[in-house]
Amino acid sequence: MSAHSKLGTVTLVGAGPGDPELLTLKAARLIRSADVVVYDNLVGSGILDMIPSTTDRIYVGKKAGQHTLPQDDINRLLVDLAHSGKRIVRLKGGDPFVFGRGGEEMEELIAAGFDVEIVPGITAALGAAAGCHFPLTHRDHAQSCVFVTGHLKNHSIELDWPALARPSQTLVFYMGITGLGIISSQLIAHGLPGDTPAALIFKATLPEQRFVPTTLAELEETATAEAIRPPALIVVGSVVTLAGDRS
Ligand code: SAH
Repeated sequence: MSAHSKLGTVTLVGAGPGDPELLTLKAARLIRSADVVVYDNLVGSGILDMIPSTTDRIYVGKKAGQHTLPQDDINRLLVDLAHSGKRIVRLKGGDPFVFGRGGEEMEELIAAGFDVEIVPGITAALGAAAGCHFPLTHRDHAQSCVFVTGHLKNHSIELDWPALARPSQTLVFYMGITGLGIISSQLIAHGLPGDTPAALIFKATLPEQRFVPTTLAELEETATAEAIRPPALIVVGSVVTLAGDRS
């Protein structure tokens, strides 16, 4: 603890993509020894089962028919909890710093004078690739791999489409299921062939995991036909053809 910090320490812990065996040893240790665990809907039930019954659990995810607790409220809650001097674990799906708003939580806590520790987790893209047996890069297929948010803002997605539409690149879209039409049409408009292999991956590394192969042009149609809903990733690039039929 630094000389300037107040009592509490908050650890932002990556819970990985779902399979409890994909937790780091450090994450498992901290989950078992926390006084309070603050978690949301991407944290798998197998991981929640590891929280001791004496530990306070605070759920800040979506409840049926309601929205997630606004991020400002989560930030404030973490600061309030940190004041208690207890060991606070903020458990987040995947890695806390990949599309997880962990950066904002860290900033707020540091601004309030607390120490923040970060424990990385396996991000969904890595879990999906391993769980569905396809590489993210491969000498014959892709020399780069880009993790992209497919989150809609005002019914559009503001991205550098010309850069994303480059050949020999794997694209992994997080939070993209509601923006599939835009993703397909923009990538095709910027030069990627409509028959570029693609895949939808639902609940990677969990027992419900589904790997649905398709093409860039047919992404939206396939997602509708196969009733793919979040949490799911969209992968665009020929690496997905290596997945075969294994999942
Ligand atoms: N911090 C997380 C990502 C949070 S954004 C991470 O590093 O993985 C939430 C999005 O992550 C979801 O909409 C979905 O696109 C993706 N996601 C998280 N877990 C997933 C899983 N097990 N399978 C497929 N996609 C997942």
